[in-house]
Amino acid sequence: MSDKNLRFKLNRRGFIQNTLTGAIAMTAGAGCVHGTGTATSKKTKPGFFGEPARDIPLREDSDVIVCGGGPAGFAAALTAARAGARTRLFDLGGGLGGVWTAGLLTFIFDFDKPGITRELVRKLDERSVRSVVGASLFVYHPEDMKLLLEEMCVEAGVKFQLHTGVTAAYRNANRLGTIVTESKSGREAWAAKVFIDATGDGDLGALAGCGWDFGREEDSQCQPLTLNALVVVKDAVALKDYISFYGGKGSHQKAWNKFKDEIHRAGMEPSYGHPTLFQARGNLLTFMINHEYGIKPFDAAKMSEATVRARAEVHRIAKALRTLGGVWEDFQVVATAEQIGIRDGRRIHGRYKVTRKDLVSGIRHPDGVARVTFNVDIHAVTKDVNKNEPISHGNLKMKPYDIPLRALIAKDVDGLMMAGRCISGDFISHASYRVTGNSVATGEAAGAVAALAAKSKRLPHEVDWAEADQLLKKISHRS
Ligand SMILES: Cc1cc2nc3c(=O)[nH]c(=O)nc-3n(C[C@H](O)[C@H](O)[C@H](O)COP(=O)(O)OP(=O)(O)OC[C@H]3O[C@@H](n4cnc5c(N)ncnc54)[C@H](O)[C@@H]3O)c2cc1C
Repeated sequence: MSDKNLRFKLNRRGFIQNTLTGAIAMTAGAGCVHGTGTATSKKTKPGFFGEPARDIPLREDSDVIVCGGGPAGFAAALTAARAGARTRLFDLGGGLGGVWTAGLLTFIFDFDKPGITRELVRKLDERSVRSVVGASLFVYHPEDMKLLLEEMCVEAGVKFQLHTGVTAAYRNANRLGTIVTESKSGREAWAAKVFIDATGDGDLGALAGCGWDFGREEDSQCQPLTLNALVVVKDAVALKDYISFYGGKGSHQKAWNKFKDEIHRAGMEPSYGHPTLFQARGNLLTFMINHEYGIKPFDAAKMSEATVRARAEVHRIAKALRTLGGVWEDFQVVATAEQIGIRDGRRIHGRYKVTRKDLVSGIRHPDGVARVTFNVDIHAVTKDVNKNEPISHGNLKMKPYDIPLRALIAKDVDGLMMAGRCISGDFISHASYRVTGNSVATGEAAGAVAALAAKSKRLPHEVDWAEADQLLKKISHRS
């Protein structure tokens, strides 16, 4: 069906899903219902409601649309806008940054790469809101990060809309042409030339009808969720032995072992075997102590139960630590994360799949968009595994390897790219490339390719990586 015919159909009957699209359970805050009128007279199956078709507003002013404003979506939208593409960004949450901000992460891995990663480091340093552990690892203040990301997107001219989730996707033959979002403004349709799925969980790819994988290949078991929190303490210096990389030094392992001993002394057993404190700034620390096992991010009911359980655990352990007195006196939770942290989501099928073999061999690609240097990090998939091995490295030795552009381009649907956690890979490789330095690098690459494709009426797979790399050298202060 041509775009013209599609518009005719939309005008005549409202949106009709003209090709197969995936179904989805939104994770959180997925917008309110704006349905009106009477139920359709069409016969529906028992237990189902026939939602009536209706007209919704359609905006056609974008070259590139990015869904999800975490580390990957932020970098994708920023790059596309800097490349001169009219760019829109939608995020379900109330700020940009995803796990960095709504998830209160505060710790960054694998960040020493050319482009936006180094630009962010420079900008965080100008604001003195980063404490350095090494070239690739550091601790940052989540609120400063949130502000910085917004300022950069505003300056680049990204049109971003918060509290807005993508809920449907419509193809014209095999090409994605229009998405629908839900927010307090109701259901709205948005057309663009190229779309980027940076939802972490692969929502857009699934809605558009792409194939995807989730969890381990053999049994679909997934990495656990973690609800981070910020705590204030009386004196961080007095707690330095329990804080990972305190003052940019010291061992992660020694700190978590000592901290775990203190939690035990308070009579508690944390559900995460490596409970961690990081110093965000001064007496403000991050508190990462819980695991929620076997939860799929696209099961809203289970996600809610896990969040409630995790929040209760955070407060329970904080209260128990306070009872120890001394250095733990006045240990207070000031905020739990707006969004429980999701490690595993859908991995959308791309034109290339990154695999375990790639990281064992240290593969190089002519269209390599990011070189991953982070080890495999698999958090225990069950409570029992957590008792003996809270984190496993998959019994393999990795060598730095490349993610090719092809892993960012959807295989089943044209005009759609992926960035961040939801790119195409297997369970093991995802456990390595998922950290945020690689999310930013894949976002930046997707943004450049999407902008070039949109402006030259090509599809992403018709753009050569060398051309995008040249563009990035011009616009992204690449060093
Ligand atoms: C507990 C935890 C600890 C971690 N530890 C580290 C660490 O120490 N260092 C490190 O570098 N990495 C770490 N990671 C990994 C890293 O944070 C993520 O893999 C990374 O954030 C992925 O970036 P992303 O942009 O792909 O996804 P996310 O950060 O998950 O961002 C996705 C964004 O998409 C939005 N979204 C979701 N669905 C929709 C929708 N339907 N419509 C619109 N918007 C949507 C979300 O609101 C969110 O803002 C950790 C992850 C977790 C969960």
